[in-house]
Amino acid sequence: MKIIMLGAPGAGKGTQAKQIAAKYDIPHISTGDIFRANIKNGTELGKKAKEYMDQGLLVPDELTCDLVMDRIQEDDCAKGFVLDGFPRTIPQAEALTAALEKIGQKMDFAIDVDVPDENIVNRMSGRRACLECGATYHIVAIPPKQEGVCDNCGSKLVLRDDDKPETVQKRLDVYHEQTQPLIDYYNKAGILKSVDGTQPMEKVFEDITNILA
Ligand code: ADP
Ligand code: ADP
Ligand code: ZN
Repeated sequence: MKIIMLGAPGAGKGTQAKQIAAKYDIPHISTGDIFRANIKNGTELGKKAKEYMDQGLLVPDELTCDLVMDRIQEDDCAKGFVLDGFPRTIPQAEALTAALEKIGQKMDFAIDVDVPDENIVNRMSGRRACLECGATYHIVAIPPKQEGVCDNCGSKLVLRDDDKPETVQKRLDVYHEQTQPLIDYYNKAGILKSVDGTQPMEKVFEDITNILA
């Protein structure tokens, strides 16, 4: 099963993608997580990506597409995968379609997690991330057992630099301009499904599993 998660920054793509990956035993591929790991490790890619991420801008397609095309051809992706945060532009979507066509495959579902802009600022300001294992919490809606500490690995939780309110509005503008057109792209491709992302996390997941079933 090959799944794309669509939705605004903070809509809950990552939260849902992790659960989908666990339930269907497929890899969760988050380009944001890949970039953050590169930043943490001080790689060249990380240095370049950080310049854009800190401004709330997208990392250029040239730095993003090859990375994903290589990743989805690894052995663990043979049964499928869930893409979280990719594609984010029409050229990225076209590159993905073309790469899969070459090997006689296509994506099965594009799931749009729909959350209005009004709710997004609250989601982002309350998001706490573990930069060690990638787990994500929300201080009110999905709190960790112990404040500021990752349930998974015990590391310290942080507010991501790009989740500060001054960057969030920019990211929302970028989303509407560059990423939202993908809803139409995948609708035309006949694989778009939409879920109401304002519901509690468990209910959103139930709606998604009903779609995938
Ligand atoms: P969110 O959880 O808010 O959706 P992500 O973790 O997916 O954010 O991405 C964080 C940042 O990483 C983005 O704002 C962007 O700068 C960069 N990024 C992630 N995925 C992509 C992509 N497919 N194309 C371009 N930039 C990306
Ligand atoms: P994305 O990957 O789309 O940027 P995340 O999965 O990181 O979004 O979720 C953004 C924030 O909202 C996180 O703090 C997360 O814990 C919280 N969150 C996710 N799903 C829900 C939900 N259904 N209701 C309330 N908060 C949620
Ligand atoms: Zn952790």
